[in-house]
Amino acid sequence: MKEVKSPKKPLIFYYIIVLVIMVLLNGILFPSILRQQIEEVDYGTFLSMLDQKEVSVVEVEQDYIYFMDDNQKDPTYYRTATFDSDISLVDRLYASGCKFGEVKEKEMSPILSGLISFVIPLVFFIVVGQLLSRSLMKKMGGGMGNAMSFGKSNAKVYVASETGIKFNDVAGEEEAKEQLQEIVDFLHNPSRYQAIGARMPKGALLVGPPGTGKTLLAKAVAGEAEVPFFSISGSEFVEMFVGMGAAKVRDLFKQANEKAPCIVFIDEIDTIGKKRDGNGLGGNDEREQTLNQLLTEMDGFDGSKGVVILAATNRPETLDPALLRPGRFDRRIPVELPDLAGREAILKVHAKKVKLGDDIDFNAIARAAAGASGAELANMVNEAALRAVRNGRAYVTQADLEESIEVVIAGYQKKNAVLSDKEKLIVSYHEIGHALVAALQSHSAPVTKITIIPRTSGALGYTMQVDTQEQHLLSREELENKIATYAGGRAAEQMIFGSITTGASNDIEQMTKLARAMITRYGMSDEFGMMALETVNNQYLGGDASLACAAQTAAVVDEKVNQLLKQQYQKALDLLKANTAKLHELAKYLYEKETITGEEFMKILETRAIETTESGAE
Ligand code: ADP
Ligand code: MG
Ligand code: ZN
Repeated sequence: MKEVKSPKKPLIFYYIIVLVIMVLLNGILFPSILRQQIEEVDYGTFLSMLDQKEVSVVEVEQDYIYFMDDNQKDPTYYRTATFDSDISLVDRLYASGCKFGEVKEKEMSPILSGLISFVIPLVFFIVVGQLLSRSLMKKMGGGMGNAMSFGKSNAKVYVASETGIKFNDVAGEEEAKEQLQEIVDFLHNPSRYQAIGARMPKGALLVGPPGTGKTLLAKAVAGEAEVPFFSISGSEFVEMFVGMGAAKVRDLFKQANEKAPCIVFIDEIDTIGKKRDGNGLGGNDEREQTLNQLLTEMDGFDGSKGVVILAATNRPETLDPALLRPGRFDRRIPVELPDLAGREAILKVHAKKVKLGDDIDFNAIARAAAGASGAELANMVNEAALRAVRNGRAYVTQADLEESIEVVIAGYQKKNAVLSDKEKLIVSYHEIGHALVAALQSHSAPVTKITIIPRTSGALGYTMQVDTQEQHLLSREELENKIATYAGGRAAEQMIFGSITTGASNDIEQMTKLARAMITRYGMSDEFGMMALETVNNQYLGGDASLACAAQTAAVVDEKVNQLLKQQYQKALDLLKANTAKLHELAKYLYEKETITGEEFMKILETRAIETTESGAE
């Protein structure tokens, strides 16, 4: 796929060329100004030259006498101030036999000279500049933005069937690919669909969280469809002047109709497709006009001609309902975060571009990267390759990939962060607190890594847990265990040092979120049962929720959340108290090694467990 490039050099560049040409031309066309040099002489010299018959032509003016000596090869021009008391001047001139004529070139009339020195260059300047930019535009295929193209759509036209992105480059997302494949198929042989009376949807809306490959899928459609593909981002319709956005929409659809069959792709459509609100005051007129124009155009064209409109957004809930009704974007294609198999496939697609060692286990990486989007996975592979180069290796190892997951989750290692010994000890106990509580509960994901090396994200250490299988459902017990695991860090600090630190701030945020969701959204409290107290606002962007209950109820919810958190904190504290010896040993081990694996952790935990049971049996 070849994207037609917009001009790299700004217009001013061409104007400067024209300016240089103008200056040169000026020197050649009007050089007389430079040529005629006039020498100033005194009256005596003039008289003696006159006597020696060296003056051939003379011109007398009010203040000066101009004269010329053309006896030499090159005529020389002179000037001398007139000498009022020389009444015999005329006689002398006559006697010397010189001619009376024009020596000095006459000055041009001010209008004419103004015309030559100012107006003509200016006109020339503008005309050449325009011609240059016009011809450039033509070369570029037209339609790029500059000051003269108000109302042009700016859509990038992808020339189909050039080597580009294909469906194979998009891993996972099989359902989305299947639906898009159908659209591509329709554009290839519409007769098959028309024969049976099937009508293609006019528009398809790709919805999903950021980085899941919506834009990539649209580009793959362009690569597969072998029809013209117009791509434009919603924000490109937003203009300073009212009516310009609408004009751009009109232009886009005009172009599309001419090129049918073709595909029009509007990325981030939420920028222009937001719900229109009734209040006229301060409303965004420009945006509404643009949206209205889009709605009109979508109704206006004939779907059977083969213009398919794709759009992508990660905020479908903000779209105007009119956009989503049948006949407009009547097909909604979810592009969700990849599952385990999807993550593995995406890793493999991107790993094709880098050299790999032979110890790579994509499945393990995919499991550790639960919740990562396609873009994050692509980024992880690249981070791993960068790390390999940094370490002077020619290929990527499993360790590179593991480290890059941590980079994406927690940021880079902060090599020069200096923790005091005391702080390091507190962090060790804090992290082991998390790990121990997780390991001592039955429904928790196994611990795979514990580290107290600070990260650029601000984390002073962390405990990584990786589920053996992908979980789609979480039970109440599992959620409670998760909360207890979060509480484990603070509980260990409290228990060992008798005081608490700021290190638990992120844990507190996470556990509160979980506890809140359990009560308000998952119906896991005895008081409210299955009553929805919160609704999620934007499911794909962080999923912040807004309360939908009375203020009194909200107060009760807060109390319940608090109760649940306290209860789980107590559980964590109890678990740690019952295993104080292990806590000490593991924390000391972590303090010395700074990073330990899940296996090391489990080995120490289990050997001690056997010893204690043995000693308990004695
Ligand atoms: P968005 O959904 O936000 O439009 P993009 O399509 O821009 O996401 O994805 C960004 C990048 O992430 C892509 O260029 C690609 O490298 C990578 N990516 C995302 N999803 C996938 C996927 N399913 N398969 C392969 N690569 C993907
Ligand atoms: Mg995108
Ligand atoms: Zn913590």
